[in-house]
Amino acid sequence: TKSSVVVNGRMQADLRVVPAKSFGAALQYFTGSKEHNVALREIAVRAKLRLNEYGLFREAGPDKGRQIAGADEEGIYKALGLAWVPPELREDRGEVVAAGAGKLPDLLSPQDIRGDLHMHTTASDGRNTIEEMIQACRALGYKYMAITEHSKSQVQANGLDEARLAEHVGAIRAAAARHKDIVVLAGIEVDVLKDGRLDLPDGVLAELDVVTASPHSALSQEGKGATERLIRAVENP
Ligand SMILES: [Zn+2]
Repeated sequence: TKSSVVVNGRMQADLRVVPAKSFGAALQYFTGSKEHNVALREIAVRAKLRLNEYGLFREAGPDKGRQIAGADEEGIYKALGLAWVPPELREDRGEVVAAGAGKLPDLLSPQDIRGDLHMHTTASDGRNTIEEMIQACRALGYKYMAITEHSKSQVQANGLDEARLAEHVGAIRAAAARHKDIVVLAGIEVDVLKDGRLDLPDGVLAELDVVTASPHSALSQEGKGATERLIRAVENP
C-alpha cells in the first residue's frame, strides 16, 4: 500500500493507497499526533473496539471483527462518542475530553482575519502595485491593511531611503483617499542595524502609521549582542 516519491529532488513524500472504507482511518492514523492516537485507542479498547489505520472494528460479541467506521474521520470520532477534532488540536492536551463533552473551541479560520499589517509592493521586493494589493485585500474581505516596504539597508530588496519613502507614502495616501471602504495604512519594515539602531531617522518613522523593525543581517551574532540589539530596537520611541 505504500510507495515513496521525491518531490523536486528535495522532499520525500510517502504515498499510501487504501480502500475507500479505510480512507478516514488512514488519514486519522497518519495525521497523528501519536499521543492523540494513543488516547483514542484507549477509548476504543474500553468500548471493546479496536482502532488502527484500516478502521474501527468490534473486538467482542457475535460480530467480532466487523468494521463499524473508517471511511471518514467523523465516523470514527462519532463511534467513539467524540466530536470530530480538528488536526491542529490533536495533541492529547485535553482535546479528547473536550470532544467527548462537546466543548471543543472554535478555531480561527481565514474568514476571521480582518486585516494584514505587513506587505510589500513593487516599490521594494513585492510583485504587485499598491493598487493591486488594495484590490487583493478587499477581495479577502479585509477592513485594514498596511504597506510595509524594506528600508535602505536592504539593497538587494530595493529598500527605500528617506526620499523614496516620502514619495511612496504620498502614493499610499493618495490610494487610501481613492478607497474609502478599506483603511490603507502607510508603514515600513525598517532594518534593525547591527548595533540596534534603526535604519531610518525617528522623525521619518514618526510620519508612518505602522513601523515593523526586522533584523535581516548579522544574524549570527552571539546571544548577548543579539539580545542587546533587539532590546535597543524595541526601546526606540
Ligand atoms: Zn517583509
